[in-house]
Amino acid sequence: MALELRPNCEYCDKDLPPESTIARICSFECTFCVECVDLKLDNVCPNCGGGFVPRPIRPARQWRPGLSVAKRPPSTKQRQLSYDLADIAAHRDRIKAIAPEHR
Ligand SMILES: [Zn+2]
Ligand SMILES: [Zn+2]
Repeated sequence: MALELRPNCEYCDKDLPPESTIARICSFECTFCVECVDLKLDNVCPNCGGGFVPRPIRPARQWRPGLSVAKRPPSTKQRQLSYDLADIAAHRDRIKAIAPEHR
């Protein structure tokens, strides 16, 4: 199964197309933009509490059979936050001092 390339930042709703260099994901594919990860979330996923890494860019060009954005298209399902902002801030503040590898 391929990585789910989600279409938007779950926090600010910015578009994050497959070629975006500002998309960040957690291990569960929760997807945010880099500004929200740095400035709002302090590298704490509001859903799972994990950290983020840059989302890999799926090649537009089909270098190998079946493996391109056209053949394995991004998700179109828009995502929104599952918790309110106060809850997310408390969750972040509880976790942010712990390095992701120790969470
Ligand atoms: Zn954002
Ligand atoms: Zn997550």
